[in-house]
This record gives sequence, C-alpha cells and structure tokens, in this order.
Amino acid sequence: MLSNKTHTMATNRTFTMLKPDAVRKGYIGGILDQITASGFRIVAMKLTQLTTDDAKAFYAVHSERPFYGELVEYMTSGPIVAAILEKENAVEDFRTLIGATNPEDAAEGTIRKKYAASISENAVHGSDSDENAAIEGAFHFSGREQF
Ligand code: UDP
Repeated sequence: MLSNKTHTMATNRTFTMLKPDAVRKGYIGGILDQITASGFRIVAMKLTQLTTDDAKAFYAVHSERPFYGELVEYMTSGPIVAAILEKENAVEDFRTLIGATNPEDAAEGTIRKKYAASISENAVHGSDSDENAAIEGAFHFSGREQF
C-alpha cells in the first residue's frame, strides 16, 4: 500500500550537514568515511552554503534562545556539505553516531567527540525526527538529485 511505503521510506532516511568548521578544517573525508563505514548509504550530497535566511529558517525553533544569532552567523560562515543518508532506523542511529550536542558529553568514538570543537561549532547536524529529515532533505534536493 502506498501509505506503508511512504512510511517505510521516511523512517529509513535522515538529513545531515557537515558544518562550516568541519569543512574548513578538512574533516569532510574523515567524517564521510565514518558515516559510510557505519552502514549509511549516501542518497544525495552537495557542497553548498546557507544564506542568512536559510539558517534562520532552519533553526527557527531556537529563535528565542540566546545563542541564535551566533548560530546563524556560524552556519553561514562558509560552505557546508548537505546530504541525505539511508539506513534502517536512520534518524536514531545517526544521532547515536554523531553523539551529544556538546562534544564534552559525547560518547567516545562519536563524530562530535572526534571532530567537534565546542557545543556551538559541533561539526555535524543530524535530523531529530523523520518529519524533519524529510523537510530538511527536500529543502536542499529535488527528487531527481536523490539516488
Ligand atoms: N547550539 C549552540 N549552543 C547551545 C545549544 C545548541 O550553539 O547551547 C547550536 C549547536 O550548533 C547545535 C544547534 O545549535 O547543533 C542546534 O541545537 P540542538 O539543541 O537542536 O542540538 P542538535 O540537535 O544539533 O544536537
């Protein structure tokens, strides 16, 4: 049934960004290597840069938080790698792989533990729900850019 298929597709995909600090420091290869070695298939990927409006919209949920201005500035400070990833239980498994928001709290071996400088410049984004994964992925990629 169509409804079941749609549901299955959504739960198997997540959206990630390798953030400007990670790109600047030359960590693209290392991070992508860990992602694919952990069983994620790259469905879509590009080097791109967020505009201020993009970053404000992306993090609108945090607009009242004290770090919002700095977060928008940081996320627009250079190119990012945007990608859609596929794996069973993608959203949850990817959040486990990247580790806690604050690298000081992130588990040993996680991407943020290895590559993040601080709670704000934390190297990588991972969607927090299937719904957001679909919204965030569709923002960056058309259907024909997804493989
Ligand atoms: N962030 C920050 N200071 C904070 C909390 C979050 O600068 O005290 C930034 C950080 O880059 C984080 C992003 O805001 O990744 C989004 O925060 P969220 O709580 O959604 O964390 P995430 O889902 O990225 O782990």
